[in-house]
Amino acid sequence: MSNTDNGTERECCKLTCAAVIVAAGEGRRMGRPKQLLPVGGVPMLERSIAEFSKLPEVCRIVVVATEELIERYGEAWAKKNIISVTGGSTRLDSVRAGVRQAAGAGVIAVHDAARPLIRAEQISAAIAEARKSGASVLAVPVKDTIKAVSADGKTVVKTLDRKTLWAAQTPQCYRLDVLESALAAFPEEKEATDESQLVERNGGAVTLVPGLDSNIKVTTPADLAAANAFLGSSSDEGKMRVGLGYDIHRMVPGRPLIMGGIRIPHTKGLLGHSDGDVILHAACDAALGAIAAGEIGIYFPPTDLTIMGISSIAIVEKTVDVLASRGAAVAQLDITVIAEEPKLSGHYPALRKSVADLFRLPIDNVSIKAKSYEGLGEIGRGEAMACHALAVVRVK
Ligand code: MG
Repeated sequence: MSNTDNGTERECCKLTCAAVIVAAGEGRRMGRPKQLLPVGGVPMLERSIAEFSKLPEVCRIVVVATEELIERYGEAWAKKNIISVTGGSTRLDSVRAGVRQAAGAGVIAVHDAARPLIRAEQISAAIAEARKSGASVLAVPVKDTIKAVSADGKTVVKTLDRKTLWAAQTPQCYRLDVLESALAAFPEEKEATDESQLVERNGGAVTLVPGLDSNIKVTTPADLAAANAFLGSSSDEGKMRVGLGYDIHRMVPGRPLIMGGIRIPHTKGLLGHSDGDVILHAACDAALGAIAAGEIGIYFPPTDLTIMGISSIAIVEKTVDVLASRGAAVAQLDITVIAEEPKLSGHYPALRKSVADLFRLPIDNVSIKAKSYEGLGEIGRGEAMACHALAVVRVK
C-alpha cells in the first residue's frame, strides 16, 4: 500500500509547513477523551489529520497527544509518517513539545484537534498569510454582544464594542522564527490559552484570516451535536452505507486461538492461511462490502505464499486504508460469533476493546456477542467457528 500522500516525499517541497495538532486534553468537560469521539462517524482527531494531509505544503504532521493515545495509535501514525509526541500539563506546554519536532519547517500551523470541521482551504489561507506577514490566526467576527464582568461574574462592568471583536480559531500559523522567539520570551508562561498572544506580547503583528463559523471548538456534548449537525447539513459529507460480512474456519488442536486480534485461551485454534481470525475477517468483509470494495481475499489472495501466516491485524489495517482512500470510515460494528466452545462472554470486554482499537472506534460503537450452535453439525461438534458482522460505514 502507498502512503505517499503523507510520506517523506513531501519533504522535497520548498515552502515547507509543519502542522502541530494538539490533542493532549483529557476531555474533562466531555467526561472522556474527546479526540476520538466521532463527528460524522469519523474520530475528531482523524478529521483534522485528514484535512492537513490534503495540502502539499504540509510536509510534516506532529500530533501532540496523551500517553494513552500514543500507546494505542502511535504505531499506526508512524506508518503514515505522522510524528507523535506526549503533551504537557497545559496547552502551551503541549505546543512547545510539538514545536520541538518541527525543526527546519518554514511555517508552523498549530491546530486544536477539538476543531474537527477545519477545511483545507482555510488552513492553506492561514499558512500563506503567516509566510507573508509572520503570524496569522483564523478568526470570525463575534456575533454576540460581549460584556466585561466583575471578578465574581455577577455584574456587568462594561459592554465591549463588537465591531472590534473577533473570535480566534485554529489553525494559528507562524513563521518558525517568530513562534520560537515568542515561546522563548515567556518560558514560564502557563496560562495563555493560545500562543498567538505570546507573539503579540513579544511585539509581533498577528494578521487575521477569515475563518468559517462551522469551524467550532467541540468542548461540550452540545458542541458535539452542533458539529454533527453541521456535517449533516453539508451535501457532500456523511452518507451512511451498510455492509454484511461472514467467515468460517476449522478448529484444530495445536494452534493458538486468535479472535478479534487477541489470543483467547483454548485447546484448539482456527486453521487458516492467516491466523484464521474469524471476527476480523467477517468485520473487514462487512466494511469493504459497505462501499462495494470487494472482499479481503482480493487484497490478500490465499495463493500468495508471501503472506502465509500473517496476523489478521494487517488485514484490518489494509481495510481501513482502502476505506480511507475512498473517503470512508467504519462508524459501527455489530458482530455475532457462532461457536460451541470456548465460552466467550467473559472475553467480551477485551474483544470489544481490541476490535474498537483496530478500527479506531469508541468501544461503544463495537458490539460482540456469541451464540452456540446447539450441538448441531460441524460447529456444534466444535470442529469449526463462524462469524457474522454488520458494518455501518460513513462515506464523505
Ligand atoms: Mg477467513
